Amino acid sequence: APVVTLRGVRKAFPTGTLALDGLNLTVNRGEFLSLVGPSGCGKSTALRLIAGLAKPSAGAVVWGDDGAGPARAPAPGDLGVVFQEPTLMPWTTVAGNVRLPLRLTRRRDTHRGDDAEARVAAAIARVGLDGFADAYPRELSGGMKMRAAIARALVTDPHLLLMDEPFAALDEITRFRLDNALSGLWQGLGTTVVFVTHSVFEAVYLSTRIVVMTPRPGRVAADIAIDAPFPRG
Ligand code: ADP
Ligand code: ADP
Repeated sequence: APVVTLRGVRKAFPTGTLALDGLNLTVNRGEFLSLVGPSGCGKSTALRLIAGLAKPSAGAVVWGDDGAGPARAPAPGDLGVVFQEPTLMPWTTVAGNVRLPLRLTRRRDTHRGDDAEARVAAAIARVGLDGFADAYPRELSGGMKMRAAIARALVTDPHLLLMDEPFAALDEITRFRLDNALSGLWQGLGTTVVFVTHSVFEAVYLSTRIVVMTPRPGRVAADIAIDAPFPRG
């Protein structure tokens, strides 16, 4: 079932740069979709359009079933977003950072009180940061900061997790460890993931589907299903 469709999307910036033109892409429920392509082809722009952080110049971002039924825009908490920079708030702890989306969304009772605390603890445990709930970001390694950012993105149980080159700034060993952690998370949670990466290896290793974009202006050059999970361990 379609989660979101980019239909004939064009994105031109006021500077005159045409980042995307004629981009057609449907993200399906449960898939791990990697978006790859040359630098500057509009991968981040496409992700930002899905996240609602930018509007298309032409075309549309359509939520839910394509055509049939009302297309409902995502509510706060339906989306989790992770950028290359973990952007943790320095004045609060890991738990404080992970709790933030719950405070911002206040969806149902599960985002308040004891339930909220249980969710925060569970999200921290999921990314392997048990024991670091009360640590401040400055006390953490780069990999641990990224784990905390992922916990923060997952705490609301988002339907869709958007990740923009999350591990690009990390050393290769940490990156590989986080690839494995993310793979385990995705298999355990069943969340839909759109993952922007420069690394074809990472894309093949993690994904059920790889969409390759053309050089700018970006559109779909190839759409590849990965039949079986990439053999592990
Ligand atoms: P990618 O993620 O594939 O490297 P981006 O989506 O970041 O590509 O950028 C696509 C193109 O749009 C690039 O040429 C980039 O310089 C340009 N671009 C991105 N954001 C802006 C912006 N806010 N203003 C002007 N140009 C932008
Ligand atoms: P990863 O990011 O994959 O968890 P790291 O290399 O960042 O790997 O850290 C490996 C382990 O070393 C962490 O899980 C943690 O237990 C410990 N560690 C790293 N940095 C710190 C730190 N600043 N304070 C306490 N423990 C740390």
